[in-house]
Amino acid sequence: MITFESVSKTYDTGSSPALEDVSFSAEAGEFVFLVGPSGSGKSTVIRLVLREEVPTRGRIRVAGRSIVRMSSWKVPYLRRNIGTVFQDFRLLPNKTVFENVAFALQVIGKSRAAISTLVPDVLGTVGLEGKEKRYPHELSGGEQQRVAIARAVVNKPGILLADEPTGNLDPATSTDIMDVLVDINRAGTTVLMATHDGDIVNRLNKRVIRLDSGRIVSDIEHGTYEVKA
Ligand code: ADP
Ligand code: ADP
Repeated sequence: MITFESVSKTYDTGSSPALEDVSFSAEAGEFVFLVGPSGSGKSTVIRLVLREEVPTRGRIRVAGRSIVRMSSWKVPYLRRNIGTVFQDFRLLPNKTVFENVAFALQVIGKSRAAISTLVPDVLGTVGLEGKEKRYPHELSGGEQQRVAIARAVVNKPGILLADEPTGNLDPATSTDIMDVLVDINRAGTTVLMATHDGDIVNRLNKRVIRLDSGRIVSDIEHGTYEVKA
C-alpha cells in the first residue's frame, strides 16, 4: 500500500538530510507505528506519502501508483485515498460536527443523499452519535479528535496517516482514541501512525519502524517503544 525505496529528502533550507536511504513497505491492512526522537524524520515520511513534499532521491509508491513524478493535477485523486489525523485536530471552528465531516464529502462532489447516510454512519463508528449539532469548542479534546477521525475516514480511504494523534490527550482518552483507530484498521484501512506515546506502542504490539537522524534503525513486527538492549 505504501512503499519507500531508498528515499532521501533534504529540504531546500536544510543542511543535513531529513531522511536518508529510507526503505520500507506497508501492506494493505497493516498497522505501523513510526517512532523516533523529535527531528528524526517521522513527519517528513508522512508529508512524502501525501506528496506535500517530493523526495530528493528514491521511489515512493502509494496505493499502486508511483507518486514522485505524479502530475500535480493527479495529486488530489491520490489524497482521496488517504485520510489524515493530526495532534491539533484541525477542525473548522464555525462548522458543526456534522458539517465538518460533510464538508470532506462536499469538496469531492458527493451528493446530498450520499452525505446524509455516510456522515451519520461514520459518526456512529467513532462514537459520536447525538453530537451532530455541536461545535468543536463545545467538545472535549477526545471528542474533537473523534470528529477529525470521522472526517478522515468518511470517504473510506485505503490509508490513514496519523501524526501524533494522541499528543494533546490524557492517557485514558488516548486509549479510547486508539480503540477507534484499531477498529478502523481491523475494517481494512492501512494505518501509519507517528507517535511519542510509549505506553500505546507497548500495549498494542504492532509493527514499529524506528527512525533516528533520518535513517531507519529498526523495523520490528511486534515492536516496543523503547530500544531493546
Ligand atoms: P519528526 O517528525 O520526527 O520530528 P521531521 O520530519 O519534522 O521529524 O524533521 C526531520 C528533519 O527535517 C529535522 O531536522 C527538521 O528540522 C527538518 N525539517 C522538517 N521540516 C522542514 C522544512 N519544512 N524545512 C526545513 N527543514 C525541515
Ligand atoms: P448547504 O450549505 O449546501 O445547505 P449544509 O452543509 O448546510 O449544506 O448541509 C449539508 C447536508 O447536511 C444537508 O442535507 C443538511 O440538511 C445536512 N445537515 C447539516 N447539518 C446537519 C446536522 N447537524 N444534523 C443533520 N443533518 C445536517
